[in-house]
Amino acid sequence: MPELPEVELVARALDKLVGGRCILAAEIRRARLVAGSTPKDFSRLIRGSCINCVNRRGKHILFELNGGLVLIAHLRMSGRFLLLPPEAPLPKFTHAIFYLDDERRLVFSDQRHFGMMKLVPAAQVHKTKELRALAPEPFSEEFTPQYLASTLARSRRTLKETLLDQTKVTGLGNIYAAEALFLSRVNPFIIAADFSRRRVGRLHQAILDVFTESIAHGSTLNIDPENIDGSYYGGAYEGRWRVYDREGEPCIACGSRIRRLTHAGRSTYFCPRCQRR
Ligand SMILES: [Zn+2]
Repeated sequence: MPELPEVELVARALDKLVGGRCILAAEIRRARLVAGSTPKDFSRLIRGSCINCVNRRGKHILFELNGGLVLIAHLRMSGRFLLLPPEAPLPKFTHAIFYLDDERRLVFSDQRHFGMMKLVPAAQVHKTKELRALAPEPFSEEFTPQYLASTLARSRRTLKETLLDQTKVTGLGNIYAAEALFLSRVNPFIIAADFSRRRVGRLHQAILDVFTESIAHGSTLNIDPENIDGSYYGGAYEGRWRVYDREGEPCIACGSRIRRLTHAGRSTYFCPRCQRR
């Protein structure tokens, strides 16, 4: 599942490729893609809209349309966009087609069928069910070490679980949570409320550092209009993981073997020596 850096890179690519384009027509081929609407109503509402810009909130992609609507899209496990010239065949699992005014089609394809799209009035976008409970953006002024400290202090779950909770910290998934905990030398299994306040600053910085590093790396890659896919960016960053998916390999800091424990249903990778406490 794409995490914040991948969604940020997908949103940037879309902004570059379709920002300013207009949607002449839309075709929804999987009814359940458009939560709370029907393919017919959705297509009627979006037809004729132009895309002012594309950005994101948490792991949601936001297409800001003229006429006061926002298209919210979530890639979930396997959703991806493709910008196709007229003659190109549609990919398998095409769930939505947006016909643009330059004759190209913006296609949403989703093998696992968990993707979501929703049209909402711009004034209500941050009050929708999907976005209203999200924690502050990591790069916003609200996400301070003090914010993180008071959030952790109220959680009786482990640090790892708390960091994955999008209402506490936005954008971390299993990979970047592991990387941030390793970078700040923090044990993932400590109860969040018991975590020393003195160490919060370092964890806070590590969260920003892992995001900054992966977004910077992804920004150097070429954009492929026919595969605007979070896993493309995620895959390109794999070789840089310090601890994630490295069970049994030597820790880059101390040489101990990286361990993996299943915790709250997810694999958690850590160095037993560097992240002792
Ligand atoms: Zn180590």
